[in-house]
Amino acid sequence: MEKLCKYGTNRVIHPKGVLPQAALKIDNDMTVKENELLIDVITLNIDSASFTQIKEACHYDVSKMEEMILDIVSERGKMQNPVTGSGGMLIGKVKKIGALFPDQSLQVGDKIATLVSLSLTPLKIKNIKSINIENDQVHIEGSAILFETGIFALVPSDMDEHLVLAALDVAGAPAQVNKLVKKGDTVAIIGAAGKSGVLCAYQAMKNATSTGKVIGVVNEESQIELLRELDLCDEVVLADATNAIDVYDKVMAVNGEQVDVCINVVNVQNTEMSCILITKDSGIVYFFSMATSFTKAALGAEGVGSDVTMIIGNGYTKNHAQLTLDLVNHAPKIKSLFEKKYT
Ligand code: NAP
Repeated sequence: MEKLCKYGTNRVIHPKGVLPQAALKIDNDMTVKENELLIDVITLNIDSASFTQIKEACHYDVSKMEEMILDIVSERGKMQNPVTGSGGMLIGKVKKIGALFPDQSLQVGDKIATLVSLSLTPLKIKNIKSINIENDQVHIEGSAILFETGIFALVPSDMDEHLVLAALDVAGAPAQVNKLVKKGDTVAIIGAAGKSGVLCAYQAMKNATSTGKVIGVVNEESQIELLRELDLCDEVVLADATNAIDVYDKVMAVNGEQVDVCINVVNVQNTEMSCILITKDSGIVYFFSMATSFTKAALGAEGVGSDVTMIIGNGYTKNHAQLTLDLVNHAPKIKSLFEKKYT
């Protein structure tokens, strides 16, 4: 009899011995094992760094993007972009519950959002119904498997499922901000007008209070206006996050000193040094971006003699889903922005 593993290593095809996230190929046969959950997938939310890479590689041609996504999933058995390594998450309906799956209170038909990455989730796509090039969402007909240790959230019945999908995709970010930012802190959010950017800016303003300061760094004029309309950020700086010196000069111009906490929520490479330069030696940089390079951050900080503490953006922290959904429900302007963009 097949030996089941709570982490799903029994589904790893190649290379043997690694966990499903690190595997190049996993078994996406949808015969559910006793400790698994089978999901009828409604929509995939492709991670922004991955979606941006796919868009660019396909020159914004949706039919090519469709082909690329199908190729990745048939090759790997999961939606893990081979360039960025990242995945995303999904919403769907519970189709079958294995007898040993830990949560037996679930019912067939319950709508859930998975809170583990698509980069480790067995997935089979029958058909891509549509791709929304503006918001990273891919509507499909297909199935997915959640392992015994896979976390998920029930989609609240009073919220739009696609809004919930969008918010939960980045739930780790505002929840980590809640842990990192204290009253009186000065906080910089790099990519402040993006999806996780606005959630982080809201949470940072709440925690830092009026005795602190939140500085947004954005790369388009229209994003300054957006943040103003949303009442987010005390200062907004227009700069390309890949240009570290420009970001440093502009943040110093509005703040007079480096910041206590820097949150990186962009979706492009080469932004590590902007964060490191603008943060105090005693401060913290939180790299939520999936385009972050450990090598560039570590060697770059050393190269400029910075003693900053750098944190890898774990997508999970306790109660992250609830905190994020509560945030959206308590911030009407963010909720209406999300409704416009993601529903
Ligand atoms: P998003 O909505 O696409 O936001 C990214 C923002 O960064 C956009 O406002 C974008 O502006 C801005 N940006 C891009 N290039 C820039 C530059 N050179 N200078 C300044 N700003 C720039 O993405 P998201 O969904 O919030 O995701 C943010 C990051 O988190 C991504 O890297 C994603 O992969 C990562 N992520 C991590 C986890 C985790 O578990 N750690 C989970 C989910 C997502 P434009 O629109 O003008 O390009």
